[in-house]
Amino acid sequence: MDNKLMLMIPGPTPVPEPVLLAMAKHPIGHRSKDFEGLLADVTAQLKWLHQTQSDVLVLAASGTGAMEAGIINFLSAGDRVLVGVNGKFGDRWAQVCETYGLKVERVTAEWGKPLDPAEFRRLLDADTDKTIKAVVITHSETSTGVLNDLETISKDVKAHGALIMADAVTSLGATNVPMDEWGLDVVASGSQKGYMLPPGLGFVAVSQKAWDAYKTATLPRFYLDLGKYKKATDKNSTPFTPPVTLFFGLQVALDMMQKEGLESIFARHHRQKNATRAAMQAMSLPLFAADAAASPAITAVAPVSVDAEKIRSLVKKRFDILLAGGQDHLKGKIFRVGHLGFVSDRDILTAIGALEAALLELGYDQCQPGAGLAAASQVLTQG
Ligand SMILES: *Cc1c(COP(=O)(O)O)cnc(C)c1O
Repeated sequence: MDNKLMLMIPGPTPVPEPVLLAMAKHPIGHRSKDFEGLLADVTAQLKWLHQTQSDVLVLAASGTGAMEAGIINFLSAGDRVLVGVNGKFGDRWAQVCETYGLKVERVTAEWGKPLDPAEFRRLLDADTDKTIKAVVITHSETSTGVLNDLETISKDVKAHGALIMADAVTSLGATNVPMDEWGLDVVASGSQKGYMLPPGLGFVAVSQKAWDAYKTATLPRFYLDLGKYKKATDKNSTPFTPPVTLFFGLQVALDMMQKEGLESIFARHHRQKNATRAAMQAMSLPLFAADAAASPAITAVAPVSVDAEKIRSLVKKRFDILLAGGQDHLKGKIFRVGHLGFVSDRDILTAIGALEAALLELGYDQCQPGAGLAAASQVLTQG
């Protein structure tokens, strides 16, 4: 039987039926009163989601487009920036910065380990001439399942005066990212992650301090010129043709999120992360990230006596469940379970059960059949 594909990858994530149905409507004109009303509504909800009074702008772009916009609008060629790199996405932002001629210093940690806030503090403290213009951090490093300590790093950046820019693509809508409270200047995210939407929309939240920097920033920008988006958004409009059907879906998805409530959403992700991790441990499958730095959206697993890709392909073939593989040098070494967005406790049990059955079929003998499900059930029922 097919046609029951279950996505357990960190994007695209599953989409709820009310969102799918909303997007099945005919498009409307984007210069209409109806669209103005829609944009006003989603903009207010996006501010709620980001816990901010600042601007949240919507782009027709993937998460990378949103992040690139966040980087290039507030900086100039030759600016010194610190980029946290402990995985694929951190490395990508360093590449974007280099592409635009910024002076990049990579603050690295081994893949699978969190960035060390003390290293940022040391560099910021030493910079008495204030040559560092921005610090770029990937909050949840999806390639390794590590959650970086954005809150602590952000405080130190604030004290220094540089801009703090965060990739919150797999943390927003999964764990607390209070933009104003943490003093974040740029927060980027994408629709196919915590938003419960298909790919296609990028979101950039921008602080007043970042807008001040915008006035003197000189990197080239046109489609991704966020000033154009702000000017239009202030009039409940968009500078270019927006993907109107995705906006229909966005409105419904944000409504669903508001009904569930931020605290409940975060608690659900936390519980499902803990259940997934407990199951892996019960199955003697080593976790790639330590408990203290575990992402709420994704669990990376580094099996020893079985091949990660064999597990992944058997789970897909037998059960039509898609798990993610490793990227770059982690290819074949890890597999990753996404538990982000529209994921119920039942989905976690289904995925763990399928994983156990696949392990059994592969002759894996490092655990009793059912050990993973028992461990996950215990966590899920304890709340
Ligand atoms: C998915 C993701 C992105 C965005 O990737 P796109 O393919 O451009 O949408 C950025 N950062 C992280 C951490 C991600 O997980």
